[in-house]
Amino acid sequence: MIDFHCHLDLYQNALTLLPIVASRNLFTLVVTTSPRAWQATSQVFNGYKNIEIAVGLHPEIVGKKAGERELLLSCISKAKYVGEIGLDGSYRYKETIAMQESIMSDVLIECERGGGKILSIHSRNAAGRVLDLVEKHCQNSTAVLHWFSGTITEARRAKALGCWFSVGPAMLRGAKGRALLQELPKDRILPETDGPFATNHSTPLMPWEAITIADALADSWKTSKENVIFQLKQNLSTLIDGNSI
Ligand code: MN
Repeated sequence: MIDFHCHLDLYQNALTLLPIVASRNLFTLVVTTSPRAWQATSQVFNGYKNIEIAVGLHPEIVGKKAGERELLLSCISKAKYVGEIGLDGSYRYKETIAMQESIMSDVLIECERGGGKILSIHSRNAAGRVLDLVEKHCQNSTAVLHWFSGTITEARRAKALGCWFSVGPAMLRGAKGRALLQELPKDRILPETDGPFATNHSTPLMPWEAITIADALADSWKTSKENVIFQLKQNLSTLIDGNSI
């Protein structure tokens, strides 16, 4: 129904999937891992009103793609959506963390200069640092924290800062993700897959499978699946159109 964070350009059969995703989903946000990928994907995926392409630079590849920093900043004024951006504080990316922070700051500043963007943000092992940057730089932009895996305290801080959350089946598979879900505001949650990276029994999640989180949400919110779906559609409308259905 809605997939607010997937890498549709990175599925093996992306071009075959494209029209299927457009017809099965109400809305899909395709995040890209570099501005060059955004340029190419925007051309190839052009023509589907309910598929938006976000320009990004994935924190895991900042080391390899540092040369695309200026290109990224110059593309922001042309994009409504920015992602995947963010920080990854995992041990294997520790050498690039300063560069990641510097790029993310510049991106957030550029987004403000453009009147504010909708951002899909990676924060693995770096939730506190990401929230520091969001607090400092995001006045007009809306930060959507994708696959949030911080602490309960960090989730509360993110909520207080006005962040949104995109939540997927992979996040809700574990007890930690389900406990975090209890802290997240119902009116600022959207489904995501993070496919093809996120999988179900080693098979990439498909963009139309994001909505399978509705069952876990219904349990958590103690309401019906129908009410959950209504709420998620309303959330999408609030975020992308700035008003409720
Ligand atoms: Mn991703």
